[in-house]
Amino acid sequence: MEYESVIGLEVHAQLDTAAKIFCGCSTEFGAEGNSQTCPICLGMPGVLPVLNKRAVELALRSILAVGGQVQPKSIFARKNYFYPDLPKGYQISQYERPLGTGGSVTVHLDGLAKRVGITRIHLEEDAGKSFHPEGRAIEYSLVDVNRCGVPLIEIVSEPEIRSPEEAYAYLVALKQILQYTEVSRADMEKGKLRCDANVSVRPKGQKEFGTKTELKNMNSFRAVQKALEVEIARQIKIIDSGGKVVQETLLWDEDRQAVAPMRAKEFSDDYRYFPEPDLLPLEVSMDWLESVRKGLPELPEARRRRFIEVFSLSDYDASLLTSERAIADYYETAVGLYPNPKMVANWINVEVFRFLKEKKIFIDDLKVPAAELAALLKKLDSSSLSNTMAKEVLAAMVETGKTVEAVVAQKGLVQESDEAVLDGWVREVISAFPKQRESYKAGKKQLLGFFVGETVKKSGGKANPKLVSTLVKKHLGE
Ligand code: ADP
Ligand code: ZN
Ligand code: MG
Repeated sequence: MEYESVIGLEVHAQLDTAAKIFCGCSTEFGAEGNSQTCPICLGMPGVLPVLNKRAVELALRSILAVGGQVQPKSIFARKNYFYPDLPKGYQISQYERPLGTGGSVTVHLDGLAKRVGITRIHLEEDAGKSFHPEGRAIEYSLVDVNRCGVPLIEIVSEPEIRSPEEAYAYLVALKQILQYTEVSRADMEKGKLRCDANVSVRPKGQKEFGTKTELKNMNSFRAVQKALEVEIARQIKIIDSGGKVVQETLLWDEDRQAVAPMRAKEFSDDYRYFPEPDLLPLEVSMDWLESVRKGLPELPEARRRRFIEVFSLSDYDASLLTSERAIADYYETAVGLYPNPKMVANWINVEVFRFLKEKKIFIDDLKVPAAELAALLKKLDSSSLSNTMAKEVLAAMVETGKTVEAVVAQKGLVQESDEAVLDGWVREVISAFPKQRESYKAGKKQLLGFFVGETVKKSGGKANPKLVSTLVKKHLGE
């Protein structure tokens, strides 16, 4: 039997605000435990939450960015459950009336584009964190409530994802949108993005969905993909052997690369949701929404398409260049100063990316501003630097932060373009390789590259290869 998997993702993203969602406490990551709390986020009796306008604005941006509908009136609800890291005994979330509904994320996989529908985007507050000190977990646990009340959006996808790779690609695309719009840093390592994955399998061609399980505790996009692969294989094995998949929540164990049951999935009415009595319904006026819309930047998908059209780039080049907003900005600045889109794309996608990877830095931390890259490429274009020299110069610029001019002057790197000098080298090379000369004359024209290479070598890398090539042809009779 052939099976098809059905996947829906629930992503929590931390909104990039300075203050928490219902009080003025800081959201700064990494502070001393329990140092960023107040009676409101601790849920003391009698305190009143006050909604952070900036958090709402960021949530609105995310809804507009995926093409969803902002509901003019949404309602906060209490989601009641007991947990040590939740001092209030409930979490303020949105339930029946979320802030946003609909929209989609465009996912690219194997050269194909596909839209994955968004069911809803709602606002909620985060809970705290429990720690179980290694070796002493039996004696005690620690609770840090700094994270209580940190603003989140939850983005729920339709069950329209059909493979673990597609889930990975969806997360990449969603992260890009959240980062471009500055809604969230969307950094999974710092817990600013978390993903629960729902998955079921069904015989290919069957319409009804199978029973799903929910996977939690993955801490990278690759872990989400891997956990789904493992879980899909597990479900297929159960069904193939005549069993039934049980609806439950499973925890991903990264060390064992396996899933383990956590608890039977509670039914949503176990949470006893009811409207939050301390907060008014959230009303978003048309004016407010319009001003948020106007503040949206060009989105990654639109920018990618524009790069393909305006700069005639390949899909591959455009995707890499628009993977981050800062890289796309860098590219556009460089092309503005040196209008050779394909060449600038190559240098960024190959050379610059290699340095970013090697140094584990972001483009904003690169010591070579876009204008200097443009200056370097101009020199390469005017033949005052060879390709090899330009690479050497770039490497030095990355290390020292010096300008192209400074590096070139310091290294004495000037491409030799004086015809008389080049001619001398070419003659020497030709007479040093009589056999190759005869073969060339007999028609083996691919030896041209050999002669050019030998001449450039002889010059210590300085000879202008274009001119050398012309001279070689002249001497060998063309
Ligand atoms: P629950 O009531 O368990 O929270 P929801 O209907 O709210 O379930 O859906 C939660 C997530 O699970 C959504 O992302 C949705 O797309 C996905 N989902 C729903 N049903 C299935 C299914 N049969 N297989 C895979 N994913 C599913
Ligand atoms: Zn507080
Ligand atoms: Mg649900």
